[in-house]
Amino acid sequence: MDLGIRGKRALVCASSKGLGLGCAEALAEAGVDLVMNARGAEALEAAAADIRARFGVDVVTVACDVTTAEGQEKLLSAAEGVDILVNNAGGPPPGLWSDWERDDFIAALDANMLTPITLMKAMMPGMIEKGWGRVVNITSQSVKAPIAVLGLSNSARAGLTGYVAGTARQVAEHGVIINNILPGIHDTDRALSLDTGVSQQQGIDLTQARANREATIPARRYGTRQEFGATCAFLCSQHAGFIVGQNILLDGGATNATL
Ligand code: NAP
Repeated sequence: MDLGIRGKRALVCASSKGLGLGCAEALAEAGVDLVMNARGAEALEAAAADIRARFGVDVVTVACDVTTAEGQEKLLSAAEGVDILVNNAGGPPPGLWSDWERDDFIAALDANMLTPITLMKAMMPGMIEKGWGRVVNITSQSVKAPIAVLGLSNSARAGLTGYVAGTARQVAEHGVIINNILPGIHDTDRALSLDTGVSQQQGIDLTQARANREATIPARRYGTRQEFGATCAFLCSQHAGFIVGQNILLDGGATNATL
């Protein structure tokens, strides 16, 4: 399917690895020029070089922390006038409800709620002016069904989801379409670190920790970054103009719900 976005330009935050990289690759395959970002320059440059070589698109890299004001300033200047924004950042650490203090919540809100809101607020006026734009926020399955140890994530992402629900309906008339993708477990470094934690806690090896988790998923496997990226690229495509403010769950059926 032709996604109809060849020649457009996208900022994909936190995209040297994992789900962000999957989105960058799928957009590049559709002919979209990219601004890619991560904190670590080495992996970022390697990912950008690989994408340039495979898809022949223009890729600008900005090595910075997207959750800081300085990082956001750098990104906004490199990505001025983009048509597509994919919001992403690392997830907050796991823990117990009684351990989290105000500062822990502020950090989680900054990274996973206020950062995407800041970037949307800065970039959507340009999209509105052009009468076309796409925003995809990478959130989490935990928005739909809480993961108790990820209480900081549950809280911050719920806040972002509420903001998007209203805002998406305010900007849609200008051709600017905002949606969220909710990943369940995907085969990335984040999943590896979650499984490592489980294996240490339960005294089992890593392969067993993964197998135990896979057994809880109706698809009996982890998602791939390529599948995730393909959904993201579709939501950024010409065909997605009537999908407004939705929360698309990619979890292999793990969330047991009818709707
Ligand atoms: P990942 O494999 O660990 O990749 C994270 C990517 O983001 C890397 O490129 C990393 O590069 C970059 N990054 C992290 N923090 C950043 C920051 N502050 N500024 C700029 N770049 C940053 O993680 P992932 O699995 O793709 O997860 C992406 C998001 O989806 C996370 O918020 C995660 O909580 C959420 N999620 C993931 C899963 C899953 O199963 N994978 C499930 C539910 C939710 P640097 O470290 O070099 O900055």
